[in-house]
Amino acid sequence: MQTKQLVNHYLLNYSKLELQEFVQLMGLEKFRGDQIYKGIFNQALEDIDQLSTLSKKIRNQISDISEIRQFQLVKTTKSEKDDTTKFLWELADGKKIESVIIYEGKRVTFCISSQVGCALDCKFCATGKMGFLRNLNSGEIIEQVLTMKNLAKNKPTNIVFMGMGEPLLNLKNVLKASDIVSDPDGLAFSKNKITLSTSGVIPGINKLAEMKSPYSLAISLNSVFEDKRQQIMPISIQYPINDLMDTIQKYVKTTKKKVTFEYILIKNINDSKEDADELLKLTHRLPCKINIIPCNSDDPEYQPPSEKKVKWFSDYIYDNNKTSTVRLRKGWEIQAACGQLYYKHENAIGKKLVSGN
Ligand code: SAH
Ligand code: SF4
Repeated sequence: MQTKQLVNHYLLNYSKLELQEFVQLMGLEKFRGDQIYKGIFNQALEDIDQLSTLSKKIRNQISDISEIRQFQLVKTTKSEKDDTTKFLWELADGKKIESVIIYEGKRVTFCISSQVGCALDCKFCATGKMGFLRNLNSGEIIEQVLTMKNLAKNKPTNIVFMGMGEPLLNLKNVLKASDIVSDPDGLAFSKNKITLSTSGVIPGINKLAEMKSPYSLAISLNSVFEDKRQQIMPISIQYPINDLMDTIQKYVKTTKKKVTFEYILIKNINDSKEDADELLKLTHRLPCKINIIPCNSDDPEYQPPSEKKVKWFSDYIYDNNKTSTVRLRKGWEIQAACGQLYYKHENAIGKKLVSGN
């Protein structure tokens, strides 16, 4: 059997232009790059041998030095309540990331990661506990979408960067991946159904405004009082909430797009009437949506309020604001704690190693 030589080109990580350059370096014509692009993104082919537009000779030439997919599926968990499915993947370098599919009525949301871990250390977040390991490249971002589509036998209606990591700190790769996902020759997915979620990285938001980003933007607000926000989201020390709100105001003006605020409700931390009033005050001039998500965490300090309190809080916001759509995201608490599957898995392995089993 013929063994593969050095495999070092991860084709999903290449844009159309990069694939054209790649084939030209091999002495092939440029349009072969377009054929590969369509095959691996639009047709979601997993194997170079399936690229029937290429001759056997060219397929061999390419497969000797490249591969299309890299992920190994480590674990899948499915919620009995609502089918929410979490996937834990192992990357080519052995690092692990999570992605999630959330079903809500007709919506099928693919929640994907942008980094391995996260440097921002939000206190309620399992990914924050991992620290930052590295950025994902655009191929790894897209492979999450392609593999989930395949495994779930379901197409997404929405794609959100709400998995592990801070997408605005890996903006170049996140935009490269989003451009391919929304390219008609790529995954042909609609641009405004792709949402970048940020904890408030101001330079990234400015960049998106400057380029008049076609993608949707969500901001994880989680607290509207500076001191409290700094305690649970240390990024607020660097980018304080007033500056953040000014930046969002400018973003909305330049892009003429609505934003979404994500507000995780945490018992005794941000669930009082004062919190609700301040949230209303801060958002009342902005065309926005507000999503309220009960916190989900193993940490006893970061628990959701009672169901009654959650309902009261979201009803209060709903009844008292004029401009925004308010949604209580049920079921999202399972996904929202992205990083937990990783955390549990790695801890279990750690325990096994310690006990010698
Ligand atoms: N770093 C980006 C995107 C990834 S986090 C951001 O912070 O926006 C994605 C979402 O998961 C964020 O809205 C975050 O607030 C939420 N999240 C993190 N930990 C959570 C938890 N324990 N319970 C509920 N939502 C959580
Ligand atoms: Fe990072 Fe977002 Fe988690 Fe904060 S909530 S630690 S920004 S992934």
